[in-house]
Amino acid sequence: MNQKQLLNIVNKQHDFFFAGTPKEITFRVKQLNILKKAIEENEDKILEALELDLGKPATEAYTTEIAVVLHEIDYALKKIKSWAKPKKVRTPFILFPGSSYIYPEPYGSVLIIGPWNYPFQLAISPLVGAMVAGNCSVVKPSEVAHKTSRIIANIIREYFDPLYIAVVEGGVEETQMLLSQKFNYIFFTGGTYVGKIIMEAAAKRLTPVTLELGGKNPCIIDEDIDIEKTLRRIIWAKYLNAGQTCIAPDYLLIQKNIKSKLLLSIETIIEEFYGKDPFKSPDYARIINEKHYFRLSELLKEGDIIIGGTTKPDSLYIAPTVIDNISWNNKIMGEEIFGPILPVIEYEDLNKVISLLHAKPKSLALYFFSKNKSKQEKILKEISSGGACINDALGHFTNNKLPFGGVGDSGMGAYHGKASFDTFSHRKSVLKRSFFVDPQMKYPPYKTPLKYLKKVLKFVS
Ligand code: NAD
Repeated sequence: MNQKQLLNIVNKQHDFFFAGTPKEITFRVKQLNILKKAIEENEDKILEALELDLGKPATEAYTTEIAVVLHEIDYALKKIKSWAKPKKVRTPFILFPGSSYIYPEPYGSVLIIGPWNYPFQLAISPLVGAMVAGNCSVVKPSEVAHKTSRIIANIIREYFDPLYIAVVEGGVEETQMLLSQKFNYIFFTGGTYVGKIIMEAAAKRLTPVTLELGGKNPCIIDEDIDIEKTLRRIIWAKYLNAGQTCIAPDYLLIQKNIKSKLLLSIETIIEEFYGKDPFKSPDYARIINEKHYFRLSELLKEGDIIIGGTTKPDSLYIAPTVIDNISWNNKIMGEEIFGPILPVIEYEDLNKVISLLHAKPKSLALYFFSKNKSKQEKILKEISSGGACINDALGHFTNNKLPFGGVGDSGMGAYHGKASFDTFSHRKSVLKRSFFVDPQMKYPPYKTPLKYLKKVLKFVS
């Protein structure tokens, strides 16, 4: 697609939007139902593409990519009428007679840029938000997960008019071309580095953005825990999709007194999940491509591998790996791992952990395992992060009553459930008045003495 064709699509979307159709609730409901049907009818093809791109086990692919999106659609369909209704708010006496409202209004044509790690869910779930809020959309799936990108493109082209939802496949060049167009909103999921490029491009046109970025998610383990349940939850969250999850625990900070006991049990649980040789497990995914495989392989060179460490370049396989004797100066602690390698660092004093994390970029997720309620509250109060779980990992993502997003380096804005509707809607403040009263005192020439005016204002505001 060239610049001219793109401009044509965006212009036509603007025209379609201003003609009013996407804003109609009946239209939104109909289109959301079409999207649901499209996903259900193409389920096998989506699962196959995810298997080819990432070796995703069908159970993981269905639950984390398809079911999540279908759930978002069902919830949006249930709530759309109440979300879209103007909300009446109190009107001060000074504006009597009048009434005040917040009108949620769609932005227009929105650009959605997706990443490769959950390539279906992270392109389509924001699309649900854009649709329920009444926008037109252009979706740019990740070229890195190219089979899934192709399925997304096929589905969108088959089921939707490009006036309403268009798809642009491609990489950096195509995204740059898209960024030079006038969109009314940009929703980006990807790395922090590219996030800055997106925001810079958006700033040129004052286009509002949501940036769903990544980072290093700390997982802190206190000594007061249920060891087995703690490890099961962490290991599942870390090795799901072979660690290529933006909210996976990036590293473990383990209280010194419990460390050796904990490390002894990790191996047993990894074996329970993936067998003696995880390479043969049907439930363990692969690394997306050679670039990431070699990047991750480099990270295996520091510290002591205590579990896993096996790699097979031909099949882009890296075993679930745990590395001990890592220090903060090692390369693995300087970048988001985004793979199945889990470094372990011990600590003695929780206060020192908190001070240390204050000096790091704010993470997308933070995990703390402890039965101690005051320590739980201390962590939540003193460390800022996009989201957090106490005694769990990833779980907060699955509750669509919780807005999902980052803070600081891990992003800005949030979505899921009502938060998706809010993200893709402008909240327009509206005051409605009649011609009934019009106090002269507000107009020049101002004759009311200030002393008296102050008293009146206190009463009427
Ligand atoms: P990425 O930033 O490399 O790519 C994301 C998108 O940006 C792709 O569609 C790509 O084509 C485009 N892109 C890449 N380089 C570009 C450039 N120079 N100019 C314009 N567009 C460009 O991210 P990724 O590698 O696909 O995904 C991994 C990252 O995404 C990780 O950091 C991960 O933590 C993060 N992530 C965040 C979330 C979240 O919800 N917060 C979810 C998944 C992934």
